[in-house]
Amino acid sequence: MFRSQLDTSIKTNLTISSSDSKKVNVTESKKIDVASHFILRAAYCRTEDLRRWFLAQECRLFRHRLESVSNKSHGGNNDALREFLAHNDFDLDRVTRNEKDSLRDKLMSIPGGPNPVEFHTTEYYRVPFIQALELVSRRECYIEGGYAYVPLGRIVSIVAAKFRASLSKSLALAAGVFGQVAHDEQARIGPLLKGMNSQYTGPGAPNAVVGLDGEEVLSAATVDALAEQSMPLCMQQLHTGLKRDHKLKHQGRLQYGLFLKGAGMSLEEHTLFFQREFTRIMTSEQFNKQYAYGIRHTHGKEGKRASYTPYNCMKIILGNPPQSGVEHHGCPYKHYDDANLSALLGKLKIGNVSDRDAIMALKKDGNFQLACAKHFEVTHPAAKSVDGVNLDGVGNHPNAWFSASVSYHNKSGKVASTSNDMAIDVVKSEGVV
Ligand code: SF4
Repeated sequence: MFRSQLDTSIKTNLTISSSDSKKVNVTESKKIDVASHFILRAAYCRTEDLRRWFLAQECRLFRHRLESVSNKSHGGNNDALREFLAHNDFDLDRVTRNEKDSLRDKLMSIPGGPNPVEFHTTEYYRVPFIQALELVSRRECYIEGGYAYVPLGRIVSIVAAKFRASLSKSLALAAGVFGQVAHDEQARIGPLLKGMNSQYTGPGAPNAVVGLDGEEVLSAATVDALAEQSMPLCMQQLHTGLKRDHKLKHQGRLQYGLFLKGAGMSLEEHTLFFQREFTRIMTSEQFNKQYAYGIRHTHGKEGKRASYTPYNCMKIILGNPPQSGVEHHGCPYKHYDDANLSALLGKLKIGNVSDRDAIMALKKDGNFQLACAKHFEVTHPAAKSVDGVNLDGVGNHPNAWFSASVSYHNKSGKVASTSNDMAIDVVKSEGVV
């Protein structure tokens, strides 16, 4: 799913067609690709968290493209990959034919390596083993004298590691001059660069979610059932926390309130829903005095009357972590420790054991958004083949996750019961974190 999503995203956002629309305009496509990379590099160099996030995304994109080139070459003589390496001055030491023949048995013993026929045409490269740690850990290369011997087809991980190191260094350098550039360019690009990470305009940007009848689906009456059926883990946890404590702390009210608003819950329904929960532990007067204003503010009816947008995943992931047991905002994939997240996935019966292992592996690698997208994939089988379900923003925006899930269930005829029974079951079984 991720690879095909990436391909679609590249096609949509980084590919310009020629005037007759039949061919890709390579020159123009390259221009927007390069420009967008450097704009983002400038916008995401400011803090350690932003740099780490940007580095992870760029490396993933780079690796995906490199693997596509490598796969195209697979079975042939890797012309495209070799051409790429030569063009980009990757200094890999090619193993001579004589040396290759003398190491034949050892090289042939690498698991998954070429068969005897392919061995003849396979090129091998020698790199310091420190640069091939990923291959070493997977036993996918032969090591001798401090060098790793790697077939051309497996060069990808070495090149990707070099790319990461080089981009990481460039980001650190850019961070050093960002303050000056932003200051000099205050009137032009400074504010744009500073605000870029908190904006989300991609696919799945918040839109009211409507049902088959064209009506908004989210109301005080339906929210319990839809929380269980269609909300991503962050919002499910906020919902569960609200049902359990009958209140939410400030950050939680903001994160959940803006999500609900973005998903189409009206001010009246939002107020009704929060009032229903909060007044279990306080009077209506207290609720009106302390919380109703904040809800109206969220909907742009008080204060600056600004149109606040729901938080995207990145803003949530990079935001303040919740205080355990007291606050429920944040992203569980980022902010829960491994044991808590694993227990939560098990309790919610997300997929089977191997699905949960796959989600946890992504979380442990720091791929929080991919872990979330995997959660979607596991709980919405074959979603990409259901017509009209837009998966593009899943893993990038909680509202996109919700929207895709609701349309998946609508299209596949499995719509949530709007009875409160289902939600009450969830509340009874909650208790993790
Ligand atoms: S990745 Fe995004 S949608 Fe998923 S749980 Fe985290 S914040 Fe929510």
